[in-house]
Order: sequence, then C-alpha cells, then structure tokens
Amino acid sequence: MKFSTLLIPTSKETPGDASLASHIYLLRGGFIDSVGDSGLYNFLPLGKKVLDKIRFVVKEELDRAGCQEVALSFVTPESLWRESGRLEKYGRELLRFKDRKENNFVLGPTHEEMMVNLIRRTVKSYKQLPLHLYQINLKFRDEIRPRFGLMRGREFLMKDGYSFHVNREDMQREFAHMEETYKTIFTRLGVDFRVVEADSGAIGGTGSKEFMVLADSGEDTIVICESCEYGANIEAAVAEPKVYDEGVTYISVKMKAHYDEGKSKVIAFVLPEGAELQEVKACKAVGANDLSVSDESAQAPIVVIEQSLGAAVDPHDFDAKEIFYEDISSVKEGDRCVHCGGVLRYTKGIEVGHIFQLGTRYSEALGCHFLDENGKSVPMVMGTYGIGVSRLLAAIIEQNHDERGCIWTRECAPFIVQIIVANMKDEAQKAWGEKLYYEMREKGIEVLFDDRTKRFGSKMRDYELIGIPYAVVMGKNLPEGKVEFITREGMVKEEVGIEDLSLFVEKRVLS
Ligand code: ATP
Ligand code: MG
Repeated sequence: MKFSTLLIPTSKETPGDASLASHIYLLRGGFIDSVGDSGLYNFLPLGKKVLDKIRFVVKEELDRAGCQEVALSFVTPESLWRESGRLEKYGRELLRFKDRKENNFVLGPTHEEMMVNLIRRTVKSYKQLPLHLYQINLKFRDEIRPRFGLMRGREFLMKDGYSFHVNREDMQREFAHMEETYKTIFTRLGVDFRVVEADSGAIGGTGSKEFMVLADSGEDTIVICESCEYGANIEAAVAEPKVYDEGVTYISVKMKAHYDEGKSKVIAFVLPEGAELQEVKACKAVGANDLSVSDESAQAPIVVIEQSLGAAVDPHDFDAKEIFYEDISSVKEGDRCVHCGGVLRYTKGIEVGHIFQLGTRYSEALGCHFLDENGKSVPMVMGTYGIGVSRLLAAIIEQNHDERGCIWTRECAPFIVQIIVANMKDEAQKAWGEKLYYEMREKGIEVLFDDRTKRFGSKMRDYELIGIPYAVVMGKNLPEGKVEFITREGMVKEEVGIEDLSLFVEKRVLS
C-alpha cells in the first residue's frame, strides 16, 4: 500500500497520560486513537492490520486444535447473570442498561453465561460431547482504573473459548491440549512468555494457568524458580514452609472482607513479623470477593493464622469465635521452591492468556445437563480459555521496542517491508521505488511504499516509530547502483546492489 493514501497520523508529541512505551508508540505511530480519557480506542488502518494478524494466528491454531468459532451476542440479558449469581460478584464492572421495553441488559465482560445458555438449549446427549466453542469478540468491563492504553481498556478484544465434557478427565485432557495450543500461538506471535500457575478460586491445584509475556512494565508479579520450571503468579505462589518456634513475634492485620449483596465481616489475619499478607490468598481463605482496610478498633470475630505459624502461636491469645490456619502470606524472593529446593525470584509479566478448569460451577447454576450412557441427567464439566487479543498489541511492543519506537515481530507486523524514497522529486529514486513496490506486490509480499513528498529525515523517523521489520531506502547512492537495506531491530544497515535487489529483499523478508 502507498503511505500517501493511508490514514497514519504519526505524531512527535508524547500524549499527556501515557507512560508506557507501548501506549506512547501505538498512539504516536498512528495505530490507535484514544476516545477521550475513557479507556476506549479506535483502531486505525495500521492497528487494525496488526489486530487482524494476531487474530489470524489465534484462529488458525484453535481451528487446527479442533475448536469451533462462533460469535455470540455482545449484548447479554441481565437475567443470565442473575441465574449464575455473578451480577453481584462482578458488581460495577458490568455495564448495565435498559432497552425501550424496560428489559435489562449487560454488555458482555466474558461469556460463560451466554455460552452455557447456548449449550443447554442445543446439546442434550453425551453423544454430542465433547465440544469446544470459541469466539474472538468485543468485551466490555467498566474497569475502575482503565490505564496503559490497550493493556487495560474498558472495551477490548478477547478470544474466549469454552469446552464441555462428560467428565473431569476429559476436561483435563482438553486443558492440557489447550496449554500446548496456547504455547504454539504465543511462540508464533514471537513473544517471550512463561506459563505460570494462577489463582483458581475454589478449584485449587493446577486448575488454572496464566500465560505471561515477560516485561518489566508488567502489572503482575510472578515467582519463578532459578533451578526448575516452577513459575506462579504471586497470588498463587507457594514456597517451602518455614518453621517458627514458640515465642516468634507476629503481627495481626485487620481487614474488612466483602461478600455478595454488600455483606461484610471484619477479619484478623495473623502473620509472622516481616511477612506480607497476600490479598488474593487471604480472600480465598475466607471466601470473600475482596478486602479493604478496616478500622483497627473493630472487633474481629474471625481469625486466620498463617499456617506456617502452626504450633508457634497460642490460639487462646485471640478472642475469636472462629480460628483457621491458611496460607495467606506472599512468597518472598529468596524463599525455597517446593519442587526442588531452588531459590525463588520475582519477575514481572503481562497476562495475555488464562486457561481454567471450571468444573460444573456454571453448568449447575444454569442447569446445563446432558443424558449420559445410562440415561442419567448430569451437569457438563467445563473448561474456559481466554486470550487478550488487543492487549497483545501492547504486550508485544512492551517487549519489543527501543528509544525510537516499535519493533514488530514478523507474524504481527502490519507490513513486512517498507520502501522509502528519500526524495520523491528525484525521478530515478521514484522509478526504482515504484519498480520494487510492484515487484513485491506481485510476489505477495506485504509492502508499504513511503511515497510521500516529505523530508527524508521525517520519513525515517516515521519508519523507526512504526517499526516494520525491514526497509529499503532509495537514496543518494542510487547513481552508483546502490540502495540501503535496513533491519529495524538494531537499525542494522546494509548496502545492496540495485540489480539483484528484488531477489535479495525477497530472500531476506521471507527467510
Ligand atoms: P486482569 O487480572 O489483567 O484484570 P483478568 O483475570 O480479569 O485479567 P480474564 O477474565 O482471565 O482476565 O480475561 C482473559 C484475558 O483478557 C486476560 O488474560 C487478559 O489478557 C485480557 N483482559 C482482561 N481484562 C482486560 C482489559 N481490561 N483490557 C484488555 N485486556 C484484558
Ligand atoms: Mg480483570
């Protein structure tokens, strides 16, 4: 395509609220456009191209893995959320509205309810199972703090898949199959990632795994072992238990735990001095939706003691109705791995995928049953699998950029090669540029032709900002039969003879 005809509004200005490289470069490079300060974005031609590339890889691998693509309605009836009990749980993250007949609706933040509703209406027998349906579709979550551009938007593109099985074993087979499929997808997309154990609510164990793109700017802290493959989100990480002696000093942290329908309880969490309360673990220990700081003077009828304190504390020290022992502290750097005794370290990651052994949580709530071989009606066993498709644009750039701009991975680049004519008034440069452009197109190579009558310096700055993997510059050495071939990563420049240019470029960009 010709640069001069495309809407690519590049800019030199760093947008006021942007602090992350991906946010800055995607806006400045004209990939996306922000709609006010609201966590809403328009995708412009370049951004849409990248989005489609990612989508294509995801779709191709899922289809190959036997999943079937569908597209569910983005607008979902509120009644389904009542049935599952998630109306309260999701709370204000759900964008709710009424239609002209006063019916209540919710913009889908995820589609378990919708998918289960579809399956309960269409699947009746074990003969129709297993089934894995997915979509690549819009989601809306009224996030409290939308930030970092596409990383945490309110409207975003997600791939969400749901599988239905006759029993847990078959669901676990599919879960393992999806873990492999996701690895293939992220490897093809060209990101450096790690699969980690994640918090999985009541299910526990290896019931949930997250796919993390490793990047210093990541919002998630991951614990990884220096000596083995173990990796876990800090929310789920475990370490070899420490042993405490009697007389150990401990602290008590009072928190307000929040439940459905606005209910709350004050709970005291008891930890060895120096340990830190891990809020997700703490929530899970008391079955709460979330925690907030409580008034220190409030009575705490429930006490949760960090399990490693075990016998070292005297439960009679607490004036409480109920006392539990649970893992509620954060793993620290330097703690030991439970699998191999190795040293645990922290690193940062961006969650781009999440796979989950769901069990019968939704099929029971919504009555999604099938008749088994004996004619007995039983709830289907489910798995659910998500990929943050629009978040991936940001994650790829967080991992692949320099001080000048984006450096796209091959599979995701909007174009594979850019032709830059240094001076459009120079007839020879223009003619050679056009010749190469049409040759590349002929060969089916995705090429962007910078045919604008701008100064060379500003065209180069745009090239660096947009970050297409390769460029060919028709410049001042053309009279000697030489042009420049650039690799965006490292801005490596090579001189190439004009006679074998087309073949040279083809070889390099397709290799
Ligand atoms: P997070 O902890 O980052 O809020 P989540 O656990 O709420 O994510 P899931 O419900 O598992 O996310 O959604 C599946 C995927 O959708 C996530 O792995 C993530 O990549 C993506 N995602 C979730 N929320 C957003 C958002 N606000 N903007 C962009 N992508 C998102
Ligand atoms: Mg979230």
